[in-house]
Amino acid sequence: YTAKATHSGHHVYRGTDDHHGEERLHLLEELRLALVDDQLVMHYQPKIDLKTGDVCGVEALVRWNHPTRGLLQPDDFLGLVEESGLMHAMTEIVLHQALDQAASWSAQGRTLTMAVNMSPSSLIDTVLPERISAMLSSRGLSPAMLVLEITEDFLLSDRERARSILTRLQATGIRISIDDFGTGYSSLAYLRDLPIDELKLDKSFIIPMKDDPRATALVVSTIDLAHSLGLRMVAEGVEDTTAYSELIGYGCDVAQGFLMSHPVPAAELEDWLAARAL
Ligand code: C2E
Ligand code: CA
Ligand code: CA
Ligand code: CA
Repeated sequence: YTAKATHSGHHVYRGTDDHHGEERLHLLEELRLALVDDQLVMHYQPKIDLKTGDVCGVEALVRWNHPTRGLLQPDDFLGLVEESGLMHAMTEIVLHQALDQAASWSAQGRTLTMAVNMSPSSLIDTVLPERISAMLSSRGLSPAMLVLEITEDFLLSDRERARSILTRLQATGIRISIDDFGTGYSSLAYLRDLPIDELKLDKSFIIPMKDDPRATALVVSTIDLAHSLGLRMVAEGVEDTTAYSELIGYGCDVAQGFLMSHPVPAAELEDWLAARAL
């Protein structure tokens, strides 16, 4: 298996090199157990429509509720998931949980889009469009409520294959968002000919806006770029009111960040939504 996890950072579980024999086997056993034992839980972070101020959707972010280590963040374990070939199984669990939650909110009369992160390795699945369509229709959900957040490294690997996968996914009616936009090493040429609905500007551009005019210049021109291509622009990492109001001024469509809410369990998000409606 060659795909490298893009989530470096502070791994609790390190790569193959750091572990030998028994310990690695132990970690793998823990992870396998986590997958079948419902230890993976989703947290949800709201997205705000900057034109209306309404909550328009959420992003599902996975956590591992580890029996002894406590709540682990994606950076702590996604590397291991990827290396051990379990990303496919994890994505399946994530999609089911996120869509169950979306169906439950929909039944409560809340129309929220659900964004799910898709690793390049889980997109390379020829029956993914059919599987996702089936998951949506069995829950009575409209495809338009599902957004797949994909990273540029997927587009980089094999353009033709990426095109055919994205075209088939988009044909089902679900939406495609380019995550961490601006941080990849791919050329912008793909914007011309790949089926994409949304660009999600990485927080490493948004957070420095307050003291770096060049970051601001990049944000402004990326919003213009998105709009001139007919794409929706989402900003992540909105941490302060200044950034929030500046983004409105620049015509950004959607904002997500700690200013509004951290990613939280579904019940907490419902409380937050209720408090906000008062
Ligand atoms: P991402 O998709 O770029 O998600 C945004 C990350 O930024 C999340 O970290 C979120 O908690 C954090 N964040 C949100 N708002 C702010 C803010 O205002 N300021 C700052 N400093 N950070 C903010 P998290 O939850 O630790 O996730 C890290 C990464 O793990 C995600 O980055 C995504 O690439 C990956 N990931 C998370 N869940 C999944 C999943 O279910 N499947 C896959 N394949 N990857 C996932
Ligand atoms: Ca994301
Ligand atoms: Ca990001
Ligand atoms: Ca990411």
